[in-house]
Amino acid sequence: MSQDWKARTRAVHAGTRRSQYGETSEAIFLTQGFVYDSAEAAEARFVEAGADEFVYARYGNPTVAMFEDRIAALEGAEDAFATASGMAAVNGALMSLLKAGDHVVSARALFGSCLYILEEILTRYGVEVSFVDGTDLDQWRAAIRPDTRAVFLESISNPTLEVIDLPAVAEMAHAVGATVIADNVFATPVFQRSLELGADVVIYSATKHIDGQGRCLGGVVLGRRDYIRKTLEPYLKHTGGALSPFNAWVMLKGLETLELRLAAQAETARCLAEALAGHDKLARVLYPFHPSHPQHDLARAQMTAGGTVLSLEIAGGKEAAFRFLDGLEIVGISNNLGDAKSLVTHPATTTHQRLGAEVRAALGIGDGLVRLSVGLEDAGDLIADLEKALAAV
Ligand SMILES: *Cc1c(COP(=O)(O)O)cnc(C)c1O
Repeated sequence: MSQDWKARTRAVHAGTRRSQYGETSEAIFLTQGFVYDSAEAAEARFVEAGADEFVYARYGNPTVAMFEDRIAALEGAEDAFATASGMAAVNGALMSLLKAGDHVVSARALFGSCLYILEEILTRYGVEVSFVDGTDLDQWRAAIRPDTRAVFLESISNPTLEVIDLPAVAEMAHAVGATVIADNVFATPVFQRSLELGADVVIYSATKHIDGQGRCLGGVVLGRRDYIRKTLEPYLKHTGGALSPFNAWVMLKGLETLELRLAAQAETARCLAEALAGHDKLARVLYPFHPSHPQHDLARAQMTAGGTVLSLEIAGGKEAAFRFLDGLEIVGISNNLGDAKSLVTHPATTTHQRLGAEVRAALGIGDGLVRLSVGLEDAGDLIADLEKALAAV
């Protein structure tokens, strides 16, 4: 790969390993193991495997390596390790780095399973975790201590779409030598360069936009080579969260069209936010690139587009929100996101049910809030569908 290649070229060509057949589309190396030419060769590979030498698919696989190299090239990361799901990536990134007695500071507004790892699992092994309002730099400043080992955040939070000031948080974290781990799923590799903004480690659930068509689970951790190979890889290869070669192939093909799909989806999301803002059945429309977003300027400074998700606060609470969901025809009711198909979810009764009403209220997740993941359908059709459902509220 030439370092001069732009993102669109990298997304199509970076990481490609052609077999002796010269196939144009990447091969699926659906194999668990690898055969060595001799006993001596097996021994040598176990001492040190070269860049394109594999020993077992839990450690690495040629199709998985193509995906890792391609996403690393897109992200501008030195290296990447692919995982079976986004949560295997989050768990691996944290567990491989931390030990009993360490201190972590995390934004409170997190995807439910991320919160579970930080709140329930890490603490069980003696890691101390302090939660802050991610949008409040004073809270970050107060919580980060000389012994803070890691900072965890979702660069755009789910489902309230709060924007974290990544350069400011990273500066505070780096002043005490802490590693900044950013779950960049909502911001996507296309719209936010989180490593350039100060993150040390970036995580994706490839399940979302990278697949982009709702088929396979996958994840990836990106960062500097010494962290990926010396800290993360030993943990992941022995604990078994490896990405399957078939799923890696789906993700690899997803990367080829990622920018095109995301540009279309984000443009539609922006149109929907504009069309729905001020609607008399809506108390709020939340979209990072809409001028009414409380951190609109920060979003514009950090991102090149507002993403593919918007959140709507339906006036009238749960009953009104349910009537809205049930009135939709094109948009499916699903807790997934990043699909070509537009999907809507009611966080208070699904993804964030476990938190309880008090915590939800503190996070701004009211009973009228719905999260809309915008797909690839026609914007006019989606607006008509949403307006018809709002009329039924
Ligand atoms: C979906 C998601 C995850 C988890 O990814 P899986 O692939 O479902 O394991 C983590 N973080 C965020 C922000 C997500 O949206």
